[in-house]
Amino acid sequence: MHIANYIGGEWVEGDGAWQQDVNPSRPRHMIAEYRESSRRLAGQAVEAANRAWEAWSSTPAPTRGRLLLAVHARLAAHRERYVDLMVQEQGKTRPEAEGEFQKGLNLVEFFAGEGFRLNGETIPSESPKTLTYTLRQSVGPVAVITPWNFPFAIPLWKISPALVAGNPVVFKPASYTPAIAAQLVSDFSEAGLPAGVLNLILGSGREVGESVAADERIHAVSFTGSNPVGRRLAEILAGRPVKVTMEMGGKNAVVVTPSADLDLAAGGIVQGAYGAAGQRCTATSRVFVHEEVKDALVERLVRHVEGIVVGPSDDPRVTMGPLISADQRDQCLVYVAEAAEAGAQVVYGGRALPRDGYFLEPTLVTVDDSRLRLVQEEIFGPVLALLTYRSLSEAIEAVNQVPYGLSAAIYSRDLLETQLFIQRVAVGMVHVNNPTIGGEAQMPFGGMKGSGLGPREMGHEGTLFFTETKTVFLDY
Ligand code: NAD
Repeated sequence: MHIANYIGGEWVEGDGAWQQDVNPSRPRHMIAEYRESSRRLAGQAVEAANRAWEAWSSTPAPTRGRLLLAVHARLAAHRERYVDLMVQEQGKTRPEAEGEFQKGLNLVEFFAGEGFRLNGETIPSESPKTLTYTLRQSVGPVAVITPWNFPFAIPLWKISPALVAGNPVVFKPASYTPAIAAQLVSDFSEAGLPAGVLNLILGSGREVGESVAADERIHAVSFTGSNPVGRRLAEILAGRPVKVTMEMGGKNAVVVTPSADLDLAAGGIVQGAYGAAGQRCTATSRVFVHEEVKDALVERLVRHVEGIVVGPSDDPRVTMGPLISADQRDQCLVYVAEAAEAGAQVVYGGRALPRDGYFLEPTLVTVDDSRLRLVQEEIFGPVLALLTYRSLSEAIEAVNQVPYGLSAAIYSRDLLETQLFIQRVAVGMVHVNNPTIGGEAQMPFGGMKGSGLGPREMGHEGTLFFTETKTVFLDY
């Protein structure tokens, strides 16, 4: 398959180096090829969005919402195509891909409804003859920069609210998943979106990502990706009056108390740590278990992990697919080797599979020293560190002692314990007797500290980011 940029309603070939898009389960299987783009083409995409702004922002919000319903219908009609692409291009298993597909549809449905809810407020005035109220208006052309790990749902949770609020979009997807991005843009266009309202630009983050974000004609930047890239973007945008939301990595923890249902906890931890091969921002990567129940939990975890079948994601027997790249797999191995050298115990896994795809065994490591990189840094692979604690306060402090603050979970049957945890844990999303993963279209999603900057995404808050408030004083 050959893919290209989409600028001003036309498919436009890139002008840089050729790139191959491969299947991480079978790296010799090429899915698509495309040419990267220069800053010049990125500028053309921004210009197309800028030209489309006036007409799109003047289109009534309910009409924009109905257009998203038409997009929803087209996406639903292409279900198999998207699920196949997620399995082949990104390496999700079929059930995982189906889950992401459904989530994407839910998001479009929710944001379509936002076209009927872009309310301002009437507010009482001090003056008897003044009508004071607020309006919600569009921000202007926005840059949407996305990662590869949710190549369907994340673009939809940014593009849909941006469009419904009246903003044209320049969409820069991750280099590993351009085919899903091109299919998405094609479906938006076929559903009737006017030319220039959604533009796709393919290429490297350093080249086109930076140039789009830094462009003066871009009024808002919505980024999801790693913390180092988020920091770099924050530097580039510093000093320029532009709205920014950044969702970044996580180092998500689960606390298991002595009152927990240990079977439930083990199931939830395994789902959170090894689902999608640990390549979720909300993946569980640390477990703090009370010392009294450590052995019982580890035994249950090992039993679950032994049941995981690693292999090509299109094989229906497989329950854990590949990592996205050889580099990513090797980096996971470095973390494990370094921890083992420092005295940590590899209880399960810790090896790459000797085959073509980028496969790693699900890995469980028990650790005493919480300063290890394995415990502090985002690994983004199926590697779980397990530590023990004696008091809940000590556990909460340890959970908070990382630079990230995205998601955390507690397994407990004690209401006081769970309340203390909810109050004190420094994360954007808390789960009780549930894995650290997951979100719903209508619920705000995001983190604090090194995990997030700016307002939350999804839910009504996700739409408001893409609007400006205009305050009106009308005397009569
Ligand atoms: P990444 O940071 O490498 O890339 C993300 C996007 O930014 C890509 O489109 C990339 O091309 C672009 N980019 C790279 N350098 C850039 C630059 N200098 N300027 C502008 N754009 C640039 O992340 P990734 O490897 O694609 O995705 C994995 C990361 O995403 C993990 O850290 C994960 O935790 C995070 N993530 C966070 C969330 C969340 O909601 N918090 C959700 C999913 C993934």
